[in-house]
Amino acid sequence: MSEPDRVVRAMTMDGAFRLIAAVVTDTARSALGAQTAGDDLGLRLAELLAAAVLVRETTQPSRRVQLVWRDARGGSLVADSLPEGLSRGLVNPGEATAVLTAGDHRLQVNYTLLNGSLHQGTVAVPDGDDMATALMRYFKQSEQIVAMVALGALPGPGGVRAVGGYVVQLLPEATREVIDAMTDHLGGLEPIGILLEGRGKTAPELAKAVFAGFEYADLASSELRFGCTCSEVRVMTSILTLPDGEVESMLSGDPLEVRCDACGRQYRITPDALRGFRDQAARA
Ligand SMILES: [Zn+2]
Repeated sequence: MSEPDRVVRAMTMDGAFRLIAAVVTDTARSALGAQTAGDDLGLRLAELLAAAVLVRETTQPSRRVQLVWRDARGGSLVADSLPEGLSRGLVNPGEATAVLTAGDHRLQVNYTLLNGSLHQGTVAVPDGDDMATALMRYFKQSEQIVAMVALGALPGPGGVRAVGGYVVQLLPEATREVIDAMTDHLGGLEPIGILLEGRGKTAPELAKAVFAGFEYADLASSELRFGCTCSEVRVMTSILTLPDGEVESMLSGDPLEVRCDACGRQYRITPDALRGFRDQAARA
């Protein structure tokens, strides 16, 4: 039995750096299992899932964070990270155009602030730039966070054999001296792909490797897993937003088979159940 996926938060004792480290291998494997993605695209989606967890933990731990990686024609990959530790991914939502692995992309980060307004930050991802570089650019441009980011997804059974990453965030307390020391240390660290299969197989181990030689304290640790927010109620709620004529024909027709694009769960909605739900909603 392997360790469950996890994200940890830690801070150096001098208050100079904060670290978010996550391993999401099982989460990514399950998310990929519910999608149709080629090898390269699957690895990009796995990285995007890890990135969504890192962004949420860095900026809005208590909010749902969504990352969208879009090509120039509009095809996209979507990764959602929820505060309960659930993650899900989507390839080509809406099936408008198939997303391309090559070429220029844009990375968009969406979340809802406590006051209800939508935060949306977008950065360009020129052809050749990896997801970690894009994420560093996002942090700097949209969140005014200076951070060093590493992200890795290694191909394997079920699409991936190891997926994870980390963010080392520079805090205002940092002096020139400690910044230089950390820069040197991170520069000498193994690439993330080596860490994930070596001394950083779990999130706490990854944190230990990234902060090795620095005194630090663990701040938080939480489990992560693949999961979706869909439900029969949500399916029926969305059906009832359709034009009245369409709803009426469903109420007098055969049971509906609805598949959730994100998790693959099948729903069978009978006309009776839909009628009951509609009447209940009307009374409420
Ligand atoms: Zn679902």
